[in-house]
Amino acid sequence: MNSWPEIDYFHANTAEARARLAELEHIAEVAWFELYRRKEDGSFWRIDREDKHQERFIVRIESFLDWESFDSSSLEKQLLLSTRGGESQERCLVAGCSSRAIKASAFCLEHTYERGVRK
Ligand SMILES: [Zn+2]
Repeated sequence: MNSWPEIDYFHANTAEARARLAELEHIAEVAWFELYRRKEDGSFWRIDREDKHQERFIVRIESFLDWESFDSSSLEKQLLLSTRGGESQERCLVAGCSSRAIKASAFCLEHTYERGVRK
């Protein structure tokens, strides 16, 4: 069994997304999320529902009891940082922030994320 990263982007209508969905069983859905169970190992995965203004994620949920409230923001930040290739040599432009900007952004990870950037 190939293991999936704890969090990843989900781009519907790609071969990768279709391959993943084929391994998943739909369990539940609420306004913003859908819950799936991976048939092979019983693990739970949450996918953001479609929203053309927002990047979608597929994230592993440890306990399905709190799947709706599970806060994936720190995982999303890690993914954003690794997608950008880490930090640059520049300082974040926000006054008073001493963190380094992430690559291809004028802001640090926290302040890039705060602006709604997810990739
Ligand atoms: Zn900052």
